[in-house]
This record gives sequence, structure tokens and C-alpha cells, in this order.
Amino acid sequence: MKIVALAGGVGGAKLAHGFAQSLPSKDLTIIVNTGDDFEHFGLYISPDLDTVCYTLAGLANPTTGWGRRDESWKTMENIQLLGGPDWFRLGDLDLGVHLERTRRLKAGQTLSQITLHFCRKWGVLQTVFPMSDQPVRTMVNTVEAGELGFQEYFVRERCQPQVKGFRFEGLDQAAPAPGLLEAIHQADFVIICPSNPWVSIDPILKLPGILDAVGKKKVIAVSPIIAGEAIKGPAAKMYAELGIQPSALAVARHYQRLRPALVIDQKDAGLSDDVNKLGLETFITNTIMSDHTERKRLAEDMLHFIGSNLL
Ligand code: GDP
Repeated sequence: MKIVALAGGVGGAKLAHGFAQSLPSKDLTIIVNTGDDFEHFGLYISPDLDTVCYTLAGLANPTTGWGRRDESWKTMENIQLLGGPDWFRLGDLDLGVHLERTRRLKAGQTLSQITLHFCRKWGVLQTVFPMSDQPVRTMVNTVEAGELGFQEYFVRERCQPQVKGFRFEGLDQAAPAPGLLEAIHQADFVIICPSNPWVSIDPILKLPGILDAVGKKKVIAVSPIIAGEAIKGPAAKMYAELGIQPSALAVARHYQRLRPALVIDQKDAGLSDDVNKLGLETFITNTIMSDHTERKRLAEDMLHFIGSNLL
């Protein structure tokens, strides 16, 4: 069974890793948000892409969920000593990746070519696509600070400003990465990972052609909101600030036009009827991926659900 997964960073990487442990590598394609990408110290940084690739490669930091394991911080310490910007933490191993990616981009390679090359070097056999080779920049409109670049909002301001809306700069001029639409056409299922719907999944779905392609497929989405809260990050806060009560039901409404089956946590079993009333099937299970075994368990539960209910 061929699966295409749409993913942001932490939540996306965890479930993608679960499927990577449960499916032959040729059957799994992951499409990753690049709306969080930015330039810092003249380097091209792609946080979600790196989180997904590091996780699949077994190189991810198991504590933070982002960055590299066995990381050192000598360069950052040196930058701090010299009074440089230190709000975005870049470890030494991580920096090597940004340096080499930036060099290759300047030499004319595309982000998707570089991602494929890095994945092969890291032994990642699944196909990982950045959503686009053209820049798309997620801008967060806030009450207190006006419009902020995503990393300014997320890391520098620690998601404190109140959100009014989002703008995806460059989206209309961007195209899905080469081969990406073809991968969706060939998929038996599209999985929407438990990533932030506003700033991780929406940028992917809003790229020209993707919503149409995904709309023709069977879709199964996993709610990143459990018992009204996000496990990590600002997804629930964003729903609340935009006047929507954060819940698995809100996530169901968010993706309703794709008519996905929605995987909701057992803590939200009471919302199942309301989700069903929207015309969406539900699958209730433990969706908290607290360790590697739980990632695989959730992926296998989903494959079993697909096999017995959706095929
Ligand atoms: P980011 O780009 O690094 O913020 O990562 P994502 O957008 O991929 O993931 C953030 C979302 O993942 C948050 O809304 C979390 O609630 C969700 N999340 C993280 N871990 C889990 C988990 O184990 N289970 C579920 N259901 N959601 C998770």
C-alpha cells in the first residue's frame, strides 16, 4: 500500500517515523512544509525538513524533538561571546548541514535535489520532498507586534504574541516540488500527520494543485489536539486566538472539505459523534507517541484501520 504523508516538524516526524518502521521504504513518501524556512547568518535553514530527515535517519535529538543528537554548541557559544544573535540555536553538527545545503543551493541545485542527496547519505530510503523548490514564507499577523516571520514568532517571541491570521508569502508563484503531485496520484492513501494545521499543513495544501490532488484520494488525518491542548507548540493557542475552541472537532472542521477519516485520541472519544455528524469517520486510539514503540504502534493501528474500514 502506497502512502503519502503530509508533515510539519515534530508531530509530523514522529508519525512519519512510525510508518517508516511499518512499511517498505518504497511505499512511503513524505511531503514536508517549507513555510518555516528562513535565512540566518546567510544560511538557508529548513527546520521541518531537517526534523523529518534527522528523525528518519536516527540522528534526531531524542529530548528536544528538533536538532541533532550528540550535538555540541561551540560555534553558538562563540557567536554569543561576540555579541551576535543567539535567539535561534544552531548546534555544530546542524550548522554543517546548513552550510553544505546553502553551498549547494548557491551552486544551482534545488532544495528537493539536495534533500534527496542528504537522505541517501544518511541512509534514509523513503522519499522525502520539500513541498516546493521555490520559497514560501509563513508570516504570522499578531496583535502586539504586527506581522512577524514564522521563526521570529515561534522562536524569538516564543509564540507569545496574539495571532490574528497568517499569510503565505510566495505561495501563488510556488510550484509543488517535481514528482510530488505524481507521488500523490500514485498513492493509495494520503495521511495528514498530527502537525499544526495552521502553519504546517495549510501551507502544503494551499500550494497550487495540491488540494485538488489530495481531494481525489482517500485521506486520513490525525488530530494534533488532544483534550483541547497541543502536545507541543502553539496549535491550540492559535485556534483559541482565532476564536475557535481548540479540539479534535475543530481539527475535523479544518480538514472537512477533504472528507478525511479522523484519528482522535481516546481522551476525545466523547467528540466522535460530533465529528461523525460532519460526515467524517473517526478512529479512536491512543495517539500520543511518547517513544519509538508508540510511533510504530500508532502507524500500525492506522494501517489496520485502513485495511479493515477504508479499503
Ligand atoms: P513543528 O513544525 O515542529 O511545530 O511540528 P508539527 O507542526 O509537525 O507538530 C506540532 C504539533 O504536533 C502540535 O500541535 C502537537 O500537538 C502535535 N504533536 C506532537 N506530538 C504528538 C503526538 O505524539 N501525538 C499527537 N496526536 N500529536 C502530537
